Amino acid sequence: MAKGDGLILLFDVDDTLLDFAKSERRAITHTLKTFGIEPTEELISAYSQINLACWKLIEDNKITRKQLDRMRFDILNERFAIEGKDSVAMGACYRKELSEASYVIRGCRALLAELSRTDRLFIVTNGAEPTQLKRLKKAGIDGFFEDIFYSESIGFSKPYREFFDYVAAHVQDWDAARAVLIGDSQTSDIAGANNAGITSVWFNRRNEKIGGVKPDFTVKNYGGLKAVLSRLRTKLAK
Ligand SMILES: [Mg+2]
Repeated sequence: MAKGDGLILLFDVDDTLLDFAKSERRAITHTLKTFGIEPTEELISAYSQINLACWKLIEDNKITRKQLDRMRFDILNERFAIEGKDSVAMGACYRKELSEASYVIRGCRALLAELSRTDRLFIVTNGAEPTQLKRLKKAGIDGFFEDIFYSESIGFSKPYREFFDYVAAHVQDWDAARAVLIGDSQTSDIAGANNAGITSVWFNRRNEKIGGVKPDFTVKNYGGLKAVLSRLRTKLAK
C-alpha cells in the first residue's frame, strides 16, 4: 500500500507514546533533592495532582507555559509550608530534568516502525517544544514523524479547533477522511478530535471512565490500536 493511500495519524505524546508518569517522577524527585527537600511519596503524588490541574488551565488557555512552570511549585510550596525556596528556579530545574527523562511505553518503537510503512505519522502535543523534541529524540522515535505540531508555537492548545485547523493547513495533501487522532486525554485529545470532526482513538491503558466526550474507538493497548487502524484502512480502500 502506498503511503498516500494510508492514514494520516496524529499522535499525542505523553501517556500515548511516552510514559509520562515515569518521567514526571524522575524529574520531581530530582528537583526536590536539588533544593534540599526530602522527596516523600506524599510530595511526589501531590505534585502530580497539582501538575495535572495546572495542565487543565493550559488546555483552557487560562495560563501561559511560563506561568505554569512557577505556578506548580508556588502551589506545592505553599501547601506543604516549604519556605525560602525559589519557585522559578525549581520550575526551571524540573523542566530541564524532564527533558532528559524519556521512557517509551513498551512496544512503542515497534508500533511506529510498523505503522510508518503504510501511514503518515505526525505529532500533536501541548508539551513545550524544546522539552518534547529532546524527549522524542532521546526515545529514538522522532525520525518516524513527518512533522511535529506544538500548541505553544501555534498559539492554541488541543482541544481548540484552531489548533487542528492549523494542522490541517500544514499537513501536505491533508484529507480529513484519512485523519485519525490517537491520544490518552479525554479533555484535550478526544474533545479536540470531536471539535475538529476527525476520527479519534482513545488510548485508555489505565481503564479510566469516560465522561463528556465521544471517542470513535477505545483501545487499551497497541495491539488494539493496530486492529482499529487496520479496519479503518480497509474501509478507506473500499
Ligand atoms: Mg497525553
